[in-house]
Amino acid sequence: MLWSLVKIVLFVLIVAGLAYGGMVLMDMDGGAQIAFGSVEISLTPLKAVLALIALVVAIYVALKLLGLLVAVLKFLLGDETAISRYFDRNREKKGIEAVTDGLMALASGDGRQALAKAAKAEKYLQKPELTNLLKAQAAMMNGDKLTAERAFKQLVADERTRFVGVQGIMKQKLEEGDTDTALKLAEKAFALKPKHEETQDILLRLQAEKGDWSAARGTLSAKLKHGAIPRDVHKRRDAVLALSQAKGVFEKGASIEAREAAIEANKKSPDLIPAAVMASDEYVAEGKGRQAARVLKKAWEAQPHPDLAAAFARIEPKETPEQRLKRFSALTKVHPEDPETKMLLAELYIAAEDFPAARRALGDLAEINPTARSLTILAAIERGEGSDDVVVRGWLTRALTAPRGPQWVCDKCQTIHAQWAPVCENCGGFDTLSWRKPTHSEVAMPAGTEMLPMIVGAVPEIEEVETVEEEVIDRPSMVDVTPPESEEKAKVEN
Ligand SMILES: [Zn+2]
Repeated sequence: MLWSLVKIVLFVLIVAGLAYGGMVLMDMDGGAQIAFGSVEISLTPLKAVLALIALVVAIYVALKLLGLLVAVLKFLLGDETAISRYFDRNREKKGIEAVTDGLMALASGDGRQALAKAAKAEKYLQKPELTNLLKAQAAMMNGDKLTAERAFKQLVADERTRFVGVQGIMKQKLEEGDTDTALKLAEKAFALKPKHEETQDILLRLQAEKGDWSAARGTLSAKLKHGAIPRDVHKRRDAVLALSQAKGVFEKGASIEAREAAIEANKKSPDLIPAAVMASDEYVAEGKGRQAARVLKKAWEAQPHPDLAAAFARIEPKETPEQRLKRFSALTKVHPEDPETKMLLAELYIAAEDFPAARRALGDLAEINPTARSLTILAAIERGEGSDDVVVRGWLTRALTAPRGPQWVCDKCQTIHAQWAPVCENCGGFDTLSWRKPTHSEVAMPAGTEMLPMIVGAVPEIEEVETVEEEVIDRPSMVDVTPPESEEKAKVEN
């Protein structure tokens, strides 16, 4: 707006300047004298200026004509394409100028100007691969999807520009959320250029999102082959894919394949907790308890996790709490200071009804690291030791509002997942979940839990609080610590 105003003002100024200059020239005396032999021409100042302009134009035309004359001479001497080349050169020059201007406009973010220059370049140049690319980019910048797609399709038609065209349409489809078509195009682009890293990543992400794990593993090994990822990263990701594959196969009921895939995933990445759990369960099903224990212990060494403890309990489902306590020492002695170990040990002692030992095992965890679980364990200990109901209730009330402790959190977008998954449900990140405390723990709590202290405090009836207490106490613990005698009952209930 401002610029157009400036342009108008400038135009008016120039016109005024020229008019004024013309008037001055007409009023001037004297002039130029030109002599050709005996002929003498005297010019007024205005005529002199006009003559100068005419001379410049004449020289320009003469040079052009000279160029044409040279071309004609060459033609006559046998160079058949000289004349057409002469005219082509001019067209090419204009075309390249238009492409240059278009690229400049593109770089400065002026999509409309770029599109106009692309159309001009198309007129002068016989280079569709160049002008179509410019047109597609400019149309994308303008948000003109139809023109962009048409240009990309023209690029697909030419072998040299096919990859760029396929990739362009693929990105458009991704933006539109049409992942089915995008996947097909990504496969095509990958076939054209298997070394292209961005294509590999997009293809891998789409395959993982669709749950096509064996295809994803193929893409991953192509990435390794072309040096796009380090070997250890490949190993870990391949393990994640193998595990996902195992889960998929398992759901279909083909347990032998699932078993093999789970065990393979565990071997590739022993610290991948869900793989260790699945491999252990498979070993247990085969009656190989010793191997199951070894796999779980190895994963526990990398990181203690309640799922590992639960799987470790499943190795011997019928043992007494005392036997279980003894067998679990294989795990509990590995990271004795880890909160997970302390809570596991406390739970095992509670199951064995040795409450003083449970308290010792828990230590001051409920004070220095109060989580819903550590506080609930403490409440169970207090109850087992016959403490006053008020004390038990006090710990349980705190447990209700305490953070949940470590969970599966996406490293990329911080979304909390109830269960481990190979692909983040929120951002689609691959292998981004890690077991840790969420950065903003409030997200983990069901809506409105922060209000609970006030609600609990406002309810005078003991019965109300009593139900809350029962619920928490009777909640099955992470490790199945049901004593054997009540196990039959639990089975019937299930
Ligand atoms: Zn995420």
